Amino acid sequence: MSAIREYVPIVGESTIEELSLLAGRLKGRAVQNINSTAVGGGVAEILVRMIPLLRDLGVNVSWDVIKGNERFFQITKKMHNALHGVEVAFEKDDWDFFVEVNRTNAKDILSDAEIKIIHDPQPIALVEERDRRGQKWVWRCHIDFTHPREEVWEFLKKYIESYDGVIFSAPAFSRLLPVRQVLISPSIDPLSDKNKELPEDQISAQCARFGIDRRRPIITQISRFDYLKDPVGVIRAYRIAKEHVDCQLVLAGGGATDDPEGMKVLEEVRREAENDPDVFVLFLPPGSDLEINALQRASDVILQKSLKEGFGLTVSEALWKGKPTIASAVGGIPLQIAHKYSGILTHSIEGTAYWIKQLLNEPEYAKKLGANGREHIKTNFLITRHIRDYLLHFLSLYEKGDIISL
Ligand code: UDP
Repeated sequence: MSAIREYVPIVGESTIEELSLLAGRLKGRAVQNINSTAVGGGVAEILVRMIPLLRDLGVNVSWDVIKGNERFFQITKKMHNALHGVEVAFEKDDWDFFVEVNRTNAKDILSDAEIKIIHDPQPIALVEERDRRGQKWVWRCHIDFTHPREEVWEFLKKYIESYDGVIFSAPAFSRLLPVRQVLISPSIDPLSDKNKELPEDQISAQCARFGIDRRRPIITQISRFDYLKDPVGVIRAYRIAKEHVDCQLVLAGGGATDDPEGMKVLEEVRREAENDPDVFVLFLPPGSDLEINALQRASDVILQKSLKEGFGLTVSEALWKGKPTIASAVGGIPLQIAHKYSGILTHSIEGTAYWIKQLLNEPEYAKKLGANGREHIKTNFLITRHIRDYLLHFLSLYEKGDIISL
C-alpha cells in the first residue's frame, strides 16, 4: 500500500483522493524547501514526515539545510529572541555577517526547483537570488510574530517584501505587508513514531527505564530546553500543586542544532529541580520519538507553559493522545485549545498550578477535555490537512498563469 493510503482509515477516502487530484495539478513544478536544521524543533519535525508523503503523491519535492558556524547561529538565536519581543543587543556587523552566510549558502544550496519554500528567518536572505533566477519564492514563518522588536523586524521586512507570498501559522502573526499572506497551521502525523498508538507494555518499559512510577500521577512537559518554554516556571507550578496533590513531574527534551542556548537552560533547570526525586529532567537525543510518545501517553496531565510559541506542536501531540492539556494562551496554542472545552489555557505559574490540582482531582472532567481535544486535532491539525493547504497554495502562485483550472 502506498504511504499516503495508510491515512484512509483515519481521515477517509475522499480526503486522500483530493490530495491526489491537487498533486496531479502540480506536475512539472518542482518544490525546494530550505531551513536551518535537519533535526530538533517543529520545522524539521514536520518536513521529515511531509516530504515522503508529498513524493508519494507524485510531487517533485526536495529539502535542504543551510550551513552556518557558531557565530551565525548565535546571531539567528538573537534574532529569534528579538522576534519574540525579548530585548537583545546586536553587534554592528551581525547583520552583514548574517547576509554573508546566506550568500555563501546561496552558491550551492539553490536547486532549479521553481517553487522555493524558505522556512523561518535563518535562510531568509537567499531571496536575494530571486531577481536573477525568477521562480516562485514563499517565506514560511513558523514563529510567534505578535511583538517583534523594531530593529529585527525592519531588517527582515526588506527580505519578506521580496517574496511572492508569506505563510504564517496563526492569524495573530500577520503584519501589514505588500505581499500576499496566507494562514496555514502546522500539523502532526498520526502515524509517526511520535504519535502512533503504543502498546501498554512499551509505555511501561519506557517509564521504568527513566525510573518514573506509573502508579502515581505524572505531569509532563516535552520541549527543547529554551527560556521561552519556561521550564523553570513549570517546576514552580508543580511545586505549588504538589502541596495539595501527589504527583511527579517529567521535563523532557533535547536541543536543536541551531540553538546554542540550550545547555545553559538545561543547567538552570537541573539546579531548580535539585533534591526532588519526583522531578525527572530528561535530556533526550534527537530521534527520541518513541520515548516522547510513551512519556506523553503515560502522563495524566500534559503542560506547555511557553512564554511565546509559534504554534506548539507538542500541544497537538498531547491532545491527539487524548491527554488533558494545560497550556499558555500564547501564539498558536489558542487555535488548538478552547478553554475548558478541549483543554485549559493559562497565563501564570499560579494558574497552571491551580489547574494541575483541579485536573488531577477530577479525572472524569480531565478525560472529557482530552477526548474533545483529540477530536479537534483530528479535524484541524493532521498532516493531510496541512498537505492540502500547501498544495492549494502552490497552485495559487500560478493563479494568473497557466495551470490552475480546478
Ligand atoms: N521534540 C522532540 N525532541 C525534543 C523536544 C521536542 O522531538 O527533545 C519535538 C516535539 O515532540 C515537537 C517538536 O519537537 O514535535 C517541537 O515543536 P513545537 O512547535 O512544540 O516547538 P519548537 O521546538 O518548534 O519551538
